[in-house]
Amino acid sequence: MSQFTGPPALGGQVPDPAQVAASFETWLDEEPASLVAARVAEPDYERRVEVVRALMADLYDAGWTRLGWPEEVGGLGGTIAHRAAIWEVLARRGVTGMALFEHTEILAPALVALGPREFVSEALPAFLSGRELWSQGFSEPDAGSDLAGLRTTARLDGDEYVIEGRKVWTSWARYATWCLLLARTGDPGSRHRGLTAFVVDLRDPGVEVRAIEQANGTDELAEVVFDGVRVPADRIVGELGGGWTVAMHILSHERGTFAWFRHCFLYPQLLDAGERALERDASALGGALLDLAAVSAASAAGVSVHAAERTLGPAAAYTKLLLCAAEQSVNDATLAGDGDLAVGLQLPEVAMRRQEYLFSRIVTVYGGSQQMQLDTIAKQILRLP
Ligand SMILES: Cc1cc2nc3c(=O)[nH]c(=O)nc-3n(C[C@H](O)[C@H](O)[C@H](O)COP(=O)(O)OP(=O)(O)OC[C@H]3O[C@@H](n4cnc5c(N)ncnc54)[C@H](O)[C@@H]3O)c2cc1C
Repeated sequence: MSQFTGPPALGGQVPDPAQVAASFETWLDEEPASLVAARVAEPDYERRVEVVRALMADLYDAGWTRLGWPEEVGGLGGTIAHRAAIWEVLARRGVTGMALFEHTEILAPALVALGPREFVSEALPAFLSGRELWSQGFSEPDAGSDLAGLRTTARLDGDEYVIEGRKVWTSWARYATWCLLLARTGDPGSRHRGLTAFVVDLRDPGVEVRAIEQANGTDELAEVVFDGVRVPADRIVGELGGGWTVAMHILSHERGTFAWFRHCFLYPQLLDAGERALERDASALGGALLDLAAVSAASAAGVSVHAAERTLGPAAAYTKLLLCAAEQSVNDATLAGDGDLAVGLQLPEVAMRRQEYLFSRIVTVYGGSQQMQLDTIAKQILRLP
């Protein structure tokens, strides 16, 4: 067990999130070099990952990103509300975004709640400190919206499972060490009842990661082939046959609480758009601000639910829709006031704004398409026929 008792400014206690935020601000006043670097627009995705990795390492070493995670797995105690406060401060201090560390708020909560304890107590510190990164292997070429129809299989052979199949749109796989993978352990027609979640080491023989270049010029997405990949039987997350529960836990974060973490970085982007606007389009800026306020309210409620160790369930779909609307209206406001974006200047900050704008067009797809969120609301909340 680590001897670390807490970030210096907190003296080993876990005070409320507002106090954590205030102490963190004071610590950041020292302007660590990794913070200064993370404020600079960096359109080269590979370099951006390295910059944020360095920031994560410093924050971990100082204890800030250990707050909000249980002590048994390397954290310092506290809840998601502490993590929410830390990210809010980082965004306010000009960090442009967390790149693939966004996955800490999508995958790590499920790993901590449902993963094999011994493994997670090593994996979480490695993740939070930027040493080992993670990806999510759910979608397949013929199983996106219909996730329960996925075909990747896991067959028990001695004390290992053998994985065969193909995943697609796997964010950040080319940077990741681990993949939280959903595979079929039941019979082919078992739908959601026959799925199990595994932790797969992407460095193992039989794994091939093929990057997919996106329209915005980054290649953070990938196709991942699993050809006879052997996984120890104790690398199951949740129960054998309980993969759907794991997926729903993850989606409760990806569609619900993640919006809090993401929207923190959209506020400064909108302020920036307002300052650069050639002619201030008050309605575009105002509309985007209202969209952000809606995300703020909905996702803060989601953070409170998870802080109380519950999950959002289908209600997370609302928050995802609100986040999509805000991502797009903030970027519409950016485009409206930004002649540079249209004429194709390659200054880093312009290139990054262009990247963000193009990415905002596809946010309605990840974590389940917009139509599927509406479907969830119609069927599971409104009980429409
Ligand atoms: C930026 C990004 C990052 C992603 N990251 C990951 C990741 O890390 N891991 C991962 O596993 N996946 C990831 N995905 C994949 C994502 O989850 C899927 O793209 C999504 O679930 C949709 O599946 P699909 O692409 O197969 O589209 P399809 O399911 O084929 O859907 C195509 C269209 O048909 C509509 N449609 C389908 N079924 C219905 C229905 N029953 N009713 C109404 N409309 C319907 C959809 O809304 C959509 O418009 C990512 C996607 C994007 C864009």
